[in-house]
Amino acid sequence: MSARVLDGRAVASRIWRDLSQRVAAVEAAGEQPRLAIVRFDDRGPSAVYAASLGRAARSVGIDPIEVTPPEGVQLSDLTARIGALNRDPSISGIVVAQPLPAHLDAPTVLSLIDPDKDVDGATPLNAGRVARGDPAFVPATALAVMAILRTYEIPIVGRRAVVVGRSAVVGRPVASLLVEADATVMVTHRRTRNLARETRRAEILVVAAGQPNLIRSEMVNRSAVVIDCGINTTPDGIVGDVDFAALRPVVSAITPVPGGVGPVTTMMVLEQTVQAAERRRGIVEPVLDMFRVETDTNAGR
Ligand code: NAP
Repeated sequence: MSARVLDGRAVASRIWRDLSQRVAAVEAAGEQPRLAIVRFDDRGPSAVYAASLGRAARSVGIDPIEVTPPEGVQLSDLTARIGALNRDPSISGIVVAQPLPAHLDAPTVLSLIDPDKDVDGATPLNAGRVARGDPAFVPATALAVMAILRTYEIPIVGRRAVVVGRSAVVGRPVASLLVEADATVMVTHRRTRNLARETRRAEILVVAAGQPNLIRSEMVNRSAVVIDCGINTTPDGIVGDVDFAALRPVVSAITPVPGGVGPVTTMMVLEQTVQAAERRRGIVEPVLDMFRVETDTNAGR
C-alpha cells in the first residue's frame, strides 16, 4: 500500500484562507499588518526569497516593505536600519532574508531584530524561549512541520520522533516543538553512529540535513510518518533529503518535495506576522499552544 502524501500546498491554502480573514479582522481593529523584509542582493537567493515572501504577504493582505541595504553595508549602518524598523510602530514583523553577505556575521545581524517583531524566530531570545517550551516566535520551517502534523491529525503524544539535523533554523527547534508536544525525541547529525538504526526506530521522522536522498527505504519502518524539510537543487530539479519514490511504498505518510514543507514555511512567517499585529491589538494566540497536537489514541503504546 502506498503512503498517504501529506500535501503542503493544501495545508498552505487552508492557512492562507484563515490568515486572510484574520488580516481583515485586525485591520478592522485599526492595525494594518506590515512585514519588513531586509534583503542583500538584487538577483540572488536573498532577492528570490524576498520577492516570493513579499508576493505571499500581499496575497493575504499584509503590506510587505523591502529594505535593501547598500552593497558592502557595515554592521553599524545595519544596526541603525534595523533599529529604525524596530522602533517604527507601523512595522509588525521583520525578516532578514538569507544568505547574508560573507562580510556580515549572521547571528550578530539576526540578534539586532526586536524579539517582539522576530516573525521568523531568528533571535537568540526566541530560540531560548522555544528551547524552554515558552511561547515564542518560532523558526518558520520548524513551525511548518508542526502545522503539517496538526492538519493531518498525526498522533504525536508518546510517539518516538527522530530528527535528522541539528541546525538552529530547523533541527533544534523542531526537536523542541516535538518535545513540547509530548513526543520522545532523538536528534541525529553527522557524528551519529549508525544513522539507519536510529531512523528505523522513528514513528515520526523529520529530516533536515541538506543531503539529497540521504534517507533510503531500508532506513525507515512501515509505520513511519516522514516529513522532509530538505530543499536541494540537483540536475534533476529540486529534491528533498528523502528518496521519495523509494519511501512512498513503504511508509505510512510522507511529504513530497517540492510541495511539502516549503509552501507551509512561507505561510508560517505570515502567520507570525499576523500574530504580531494581533498582539498589538490585544488579540493573543500563543504559537506553541496553537500547534500542540493533542489527539492520540495510542499514547504510551
Ligand atoms: P544545515 O545548517 O546545513 O544543517 C544540516 C544538519 O544536517 C546538520 O546538523 C548536519 O549535521 C546534519 N547532516 C548533514 N548530513 C548528514 C548526514 N549524512 N547524516 C546525519 N546528519 C547530517 O542545514 P539546514 O539549514 O538545517 O537545512 C537543512 C535542509 O532543509 C536543507 O536542504 C535546506 O535547504 C532545507 N531548508 C528548508 C526550508 C524550507 O522552507 N522547507 C527552510 C530551511 C532549510 P552536523 O551538525 O553534524 O553537521
